[in-house]
Amino acid sequence: MNVINISSSCNSDFVRQVEEESGQQLSLCYQCGKCTAGCPYTTEYDIPVSQIIRLTQAGQKELVLKSKSLWLCATCESCTARCPNKIDVARIMDVLRHMARREGYSGVKTVKTFWDSFLHSVQKNGRVFEVGLLANYISHTGRFWTDFGLGRKVLPKGKIHFKPSAMQGKEEVAKIFRRYVEESTK
Ligand code: SF4
Ligand code: SF4
Repeated sequence: MNVINISSSCNSDFVRQVEEESGQQLSLCYQCGKCTAGCPYTTEYDIPVSQIIRLTQAGQKELVLKSKSLWLCATCESCTARCPNKIDVARIMDVLRHMARREGYSGVKTVKTFWDSFLHSVQKNGRVFEVGLLANYISHTGRFWTDFGLGRKVLPKGKIHFKPSAMQGKEEVAKIFRRYVEESTK
């Protein structure tokens, strides 16, 4: 078990900001561990989700925002559903990930790059265009042979299209991205 020293000073601005952005009251958590017990990614996390909540309560900004767990979270909401105190834990993870992104913490670089490529594709095409996403991801990570075997199986089945499909409401989707950028730079 990793021992994390939280005796260093509490960043209360960080605690306040997480509570404001998530609309959740961190002090309600009494560390029962039910969120961690139900989290499908606990085995991959460097810090289990209940400990992320504890560290956030204790204002340990640096430790929390550099955690790989934020980037591996699948937003499955199992933690939220299991919390006896009705804390929206998945929402807190989301807020922390946004905060980490804003403040330049890269977490797991390949996962962040995948997310960025996914979002870029949706912004540009109104929905995800798989080939564009892959090209973007590979060019930024150099992982040319990732899922190569899978690609060989899927291609003959015609599951992959080489041109983005036309989509209604593309401009509306682009507006959502523009609004996000405007809001987050205020
Ligand atoms: S939302 Fe994230 S932290 Fe919560 S259970 Fe799912 S993967 Fe784990
Ligand atoms: S389930 Fe809720 S109360 Fe229990 S550790 Fe997780 S966040 Fe805290």
